[in-house]
Amino acid sequence: MEQTFVMIKPDGVQRGLVGEIICRFEKKGFTLKGLKLQSVERAFAEKHYADLSSKPFFNGLVEYIISGPVVAMVWEGKNVVTTGRKIIGATNPSDSAPGTIRGDFAVEIGRNVIHGSDAVESARKEIALWFPEGVAEWQSSLHSWIYE
Ligand code: UDP
Ligand code: MG
Repeated sequence: MEQTFVMIKPDGVQRGLVGEIICRFEKKGFTLKGLKLQSVERAFAEKHYADLSSKPFFNGLVEYIISGPVVAMVWEGKNVVTTGRKIIGATNPSDSAPGTIRGDFAVEIGRNVIHGSDAVESARKEIALWFPEGVAEWQSSLHSWIYE
């Protein structure tokens, strides 16, 4: 089953949105496979966002991510990468539809509350980076009520 990496950024943690965000993924029917609150070091944040290292906003982005603890999660389910991005909403909250996490809880692109992997391959890399210890092996007892 497909997995994605989701991170509640420092603003999301500080603003008390952890429960609300987890709730949205849970209620959708996705399965939580990994979860931890942690502060990351600069080098780790730079590695996570390595693909964006040439962008003008890169340094500000790294400062943002290391500015407080984040909640790192692995969610599992059918099409969870693409659907997870839809639940999160467009990168710039000015363009994120109401009903999405960024549409409901964010105003600025540099404080957009949450990260989600953009492809199955980047999800695989990000899960390996953030959860080198591996994730939980379990199947929800609701499985047959969510999947036909
Ligand atoms: N970002 C920014 N300014 C920009 C573009 C992106 O501050 O002009 C930040 C924003 O927090 C975004 C993150 O960099 O979530 C990663 O950018 P990406 O294009 O990968 O967007 P995402 O995948 O998070 O929607
Ligand atoms: Mg991205």
